[in-house]
Amino acid sequence: MANKIVGRATAAIMLPLLGSFIAACSSAPAGEESRATEAEALKSAPVSIAKTTDGIQQASAPAGAKLIYRGGRVISNVQVVPVLYGSGTYISQVSSTSATAGASMFSFYRDITVSTYFDWLTEYNTTISGGTNQAIGHGTAVTTRQITPAASRNGTTITDASIQAELCAQLSAGTLPAPTHDAAGNNNTYYAIFFPKGKHISLGGTPSCQAGGFCAYHGTVASCGGKGEVYYGVHPDMSAGSGCDTGCGSNASTFSNQTSVASHELVEAVTDPEIGIATVIGPPLAWYDATNGEIGDICNAQLGTVSVGGFNYTVQKEFANRCGCIVTPPIVTPPAGACAHSVCATGGSLTSGCNSCVTSICSVDPFCCNTSWDSICVGEVSSICGPPYTNCAEP
Ligand SMILES: [Zn+2]
Repeated sequence: MANKIVGRATAAIMLPLLGSFIAACSSAPAGEESRATEAEALKSAPVSIAKTTDGIQQASAPAGAKLIYRGGRVISNVQVVPVLYGSGTYISQVSSTSATAGASMFSFYRDITVSTYFDWLTEYNTTISGGTNQAIGHGTAVTTRQITPAASRNGTTITDASIQAELCAQLSAGTLPAPTHDAAGNNNTYYAIFFPKGKHISLGGTPSCQAGGFCAYHGTVASCGGKGEVYYGVHPDMSAGSGCDTGCGSNASTFSNQTSVASHELVEAVTDPEIGIATVIGPPLAWYDATNGEIGDICNAQLGTVSVGGFNYTVQKEFANRCGCIVTPPIVTPPAGACAHSVCATGGSLTSGCNSCVTSICSVDPFCCNTSWDSICVGEVSSICGPPYTNCAEP
């Protein structure tokens, strides 16, 4: 099945996998950005992300992949609101609203947002120059809500515009909890919308669960009457016969395929929530690779497992600039040797020769030893230095 996405929002393309992967940090990104202004072509507005991987299993991130901060918001402490879009048939784990009945989509969001899978997203804090000054921390989930959409917005095929309108209508009516915000007023809430069997989604003409279509996407409502920006994810049913039962993950369990896709969209929403209203490679995009897309796209269809809350959840690997495609970053503290500070921490310039890693980096990037050991130098640790520096811990 050809998997291709062209959408205003960003979408997950999940491909069949032959097996799952354990957490690893073996694929160092080779990408290196010019310290000068990044040269890149603006994509035609609105932002579109087209990826065709045609079922080829990627063992690592594409060469040169690197998420670059574009100036937009992230989500500080995500509050996930799982939403069932109307009546109909859902897989039991999706429709479950019980907090105790075993693994469910609700428990997935509740647990994954306090897991190690979330911890490493601090790499994408925006407490940096020109940033929105947000630190990404743990999140929460509220129990799953079921809405009753207007009939006009609940046909066999439902457009993204209808989903946005319905979401705003439910917020106005108070049947869905209003968005919550961090102390600085940045939106924290993410509505993860699930659809029953037989519903087809159209995102700007691109269909769900068909060849050339998508498995899921996340988007942004610019303004929901009085509620401000709204972040949401769209998840069509993936059960047998849906079309998303092939091409969106090869687990025997539909639920595992759904959590994999859901993890992709969730972490993208956290690190790039405003993409749905972005029109250029710049603000309000947040962490975005002009070639490879968002954090989930770079590692599309590479699976792993997160054990948290008493359950083993299937997730998709997400991209760490320092490590490549990972589930959980290995925490390794490289020896500083005779250096003034850790190579994993930004700071003053280091002296070539203080350890082998610094020597290697400064031989190709003298800035790091002449001017300062900035975030690019830190980023080069994983791509240039060998073990034990390969697995660069958080500074
Ligand atoms: Zn994506």
